[in-house]
Amino acid sequence: MNVATDADSAGAALEGRRAVVTGASRGIGYSVAAAFAKAGADLAVVTRDAASLNAVADELQAHGRRVVAVPCDVTIPDQVTTLHRAVVEQLGGVDILVNNAGTGESHAFLNHPDDLWHHMLLANLTSVYYVTKAFVPEMVAQRYGRIINMASMAAKVGARYLAAYTAAKHGVLGLTRVLAAELVSYAITVNAICPGYVDTPLTGASIARIAARTGRTEADARRALEQMNPQRRLIDPAEVAAVALFLAQDSAAGITGQAINVDGGAVMW
Ligand code: NAD
Repeated sequence: MNVATDADSAGAALEGRRAVVTGASRGIGYSVAAAFAKAGADLAVVTRDAASLNAVADELQAHGRRVVAVPCDVTIPDQVTTLHRAVVEQLGGVDILVNNAGTGESHAFLNHPDDLWHHMLLANLTSVYYVTKAFVPEMVAQRYGRIINMASMAAKVGARYLAAYTAAKHGVLGLTRVLAAELVSYAITVNAICPGYVDTPLTGASIARIAARTGRTEADARRALEQMNPQRRLIDPAEVAAVALFLAQDSAAGITGQAINVDGGAVMW
């Protein structure tokens, strides 16, 4: 399927806006950062690994915007404090925060390892709490903000072997709704995006794991994930970025507390 997702049509929709995108070195986060840079935003791209981050920043600067690379593990509060300071110093503040960094691992609930439970909650939910808490005061002070949380189809439905990831993503949705309610009078919108399986390195790792556990080929494992989408395909990261770009714009001021599915119709609520 040929999907029209090019953010070029957005022109300078984010001109003058300053955005932070976590998990921007690859996958969905990279696509969001690229769409925002094309739309005219200044950017802080964030992930743990400085080398991959610098490469992304160099590439996105070609769109003529300021792109700063800030290495940070979003699960570590001290590093989030440093991230916040670096962004304020280098971009002068923040208008748009995309909490995208996250990771997914599966395990049957019987004999579920406690450390996997804690890791999934920390990486996918508590990290969103830490980063949002760091950046919200600027948004409140300036009476403007856009917060976009990368949730998942797993924020709305339960599937086998995903207890910890699903609990974390349901938590992200709950946090999104609470923040939308609490921040509404400051012209800050808070929304979640709920993708189905997206063609990213994270999904590639899931496919490899399924193949290893079941003895199926990786092609068969990939087809099994494609079948979970009524359109029988993986979602392109650029399709998710297009929704983030839409939510980030001034014109989306009336949309808050929402959870928008990008899953080919797998979930209809
Ligand atoms: P990915 O693994 O391809 O990329 C994740 C990015 O986040 C990488 O840049 C990684 O370095 C970064 N990251 C992970 N943990 C981090 C941490 N502690 N601190 C800083 N950076 C960290 O993943 P993706 O598929 O692009 O997923 C991005 C987000 O979308 C995640 O929150 C994921 O749960 C969500 N999501 C993905 C899918 C999918 O099918 N791929 C579906 C629904 C939701």
